[in-house]
Amino acid sequence: HADIAMYRAKKLGRNNFQFYTPAMNEESQERVRIEGALRNALERDELMLHYQPQVDLATGKIVGMEALVRWQHPELGMVPPTRFVGVAEETGLIVQIGAWVMRTAAAQNKAWQDAGLGRLRVAVNLSARQFGAADLIESIEQVLADTGLAPECLEIELTESLFMSDVTPAVELLHRMKALGVSLSIDDFGTGYSSLSYLSRFPIDVLKIDRSFVADITHDANDAAIVTSIIALAHNLKLSVIAEGVETREQLDYLRSHGCDEMQGYYFSRPLAADEFEQLLRQQRTLPAPAALLPEDAV
Ligand code: C2E
Ligand code: MG
Ligand code: MG
Ligand code: MG
Repeated sequence: HADIAMYRAKKLGRNNFQFYTPAMNEESQERVRIEGALRNALERDELMLHYQPQVDLATGKIVGMEALVRWQHPELGMVPPTRFVGVAEETGLIVQIGAWVMRTAAAQNKAWQDAGLGRLRVAVNLSARQFGAADLIESIEQVLADTGLAPECLEIELTESLFMSDVTPAVELLHRMKALGVSLSIDDFGTGYSSLSYLSRFPIDVLKIDRSFVADITHDANDAAIVTSIIALAHNLKLSVIAEGVETREQLDYLRSHGCDEMQGYYFSRPLAADEFEQLLRQQRTLPAPAALLPEDAV
């Protein structure tokens, strides 16, 4: 399987050919364990969502959230998505899990709107596997109808891998998604191997700059150049751009001064359980004002 091979190659390092190690065996045993337990996770109600705020850099206000799946297993403990989403994709379980994520996230966001906490947007991650499902469009439509969430409040995150895989969706499928009124974003932008041509062919609304570029933005001139180029690319194509993985005030200031639209990252908040996220909304916490506008700098 190509992605396992890539994962292993990454782990082992370049030019380091190793075909079998005891550690690898433990790893595959863990995968088997995870796969078995994951089959029961949904019906046993072990999955939940955390929500990470997305903040408008101009106003400092929370304008949306990304829903991120969490798995609390009675023996394995909290299993991070990096350890089970891949397994769920290989087994196809991601289709059911993804449907649950979309429904839960939409219902939660609608409940917050009804509670007067603001008209926010909620983003969900869509696996390439979900595009294979014949009823994708109908299932999104059904979630919107059942929850009453306005379509423009739902954003669907796609990854570039979708555009290079053998299940590459027809442009038509993306247009049908757009026709529902939802918005589409490209997650981890810049880390895939696909060509830029899809940006002009597909009805994309948002680019999400991968956090690997943001990490060294204030120390590495190349990363800074990549980030400012992605911002310019997005704006030239009339797309909105959000930076992921913002952890420091310096990164925030850099992104703000270079015209990035939104940010998401530990600097503002980690992903939070629903009740914690609700508290954050009630506090109406905002980003600090740009350095140049702080009172001590005025006059
Ligand atoms: P992603 O969609 O790119 O989500 C962003 C990841 O970055 C999240 O990891 C989030 O916790 C993390 N993050 C956010 N801010 C920061 C920061 O400032 N610094 C650092 N170091 N990390 C930050 P998480 O929740 O572990 O999710 C990992 C990946 O798992 C996601 O990456 C996504 O690809 C996948 N995933 C999560 N939930 C779902 C889901 O419901 N469906 C699908 N298909 N994939 C999901
Ligand atoms: Mg995402
Ligand atoms: Mg991402
Ligand atoms: Mg990712």
